[in-house]
Amino acid sequence: MPLFGHIGEFDESDKSAWEEWCDRMEQYFLANKLEDSTVKRAIFLSSVGAATYSTLASLCSPKKPKELSFTELLKLLQEHNAPKPSTDSPRCFRCLSTRHTSRNCPMRNKICFECKKRGHTRAAHQAGSVFVVESEATSAVSQVSGSTMLSV
Ligand SMILES: [Zn+2]
Ligand SMILES: [Zn+2]
Repeated sequence: MPLFGHIGEFDESDKSAWEEWCDRMEQYFLANKLEDSTVKRAIFLSSVGAATYSTLASLCSPKKPKELSFTELLKLLQEHNAPKPSTDSPRCFRCLSTRHTSRNCPMRNKICFECKKRGHTRAAHQAGSVFVVESEATSAVSQVSGSTMLSV
């Protein structure tokens, strides 16, 4: 079966291009109607390039890349290529920003789409950060309880 398109190797020196490379691979799979994850893994491993392949090999050591599923392989590289979240600045649990503290957060009065509680964004809710500091959130919410209710 002739295949459409060409993914091209991933350039290890530019980690920020990883997401784009994954998108291209995704499009390639779509164009060629590839749904079998074994086939995807084979194409992925043969397209990703020698440098990334050896990175991958060391990431999944002592296993071999071919012993892991396509999803597991992608996850490993995803973590490897993702920019490390800085650990020195504390993260605002309401909106996950590192630029301010939860006390100064512009999302203090935001109603979460997920649980309809006030004081955090849906992203923060999904990341689970609101549950860790639930008690702090509750007290912060009660401080603003005097303000008018937002009508949607
Ligand atoms: Zn915030
Ligand atoms: Zn929520």
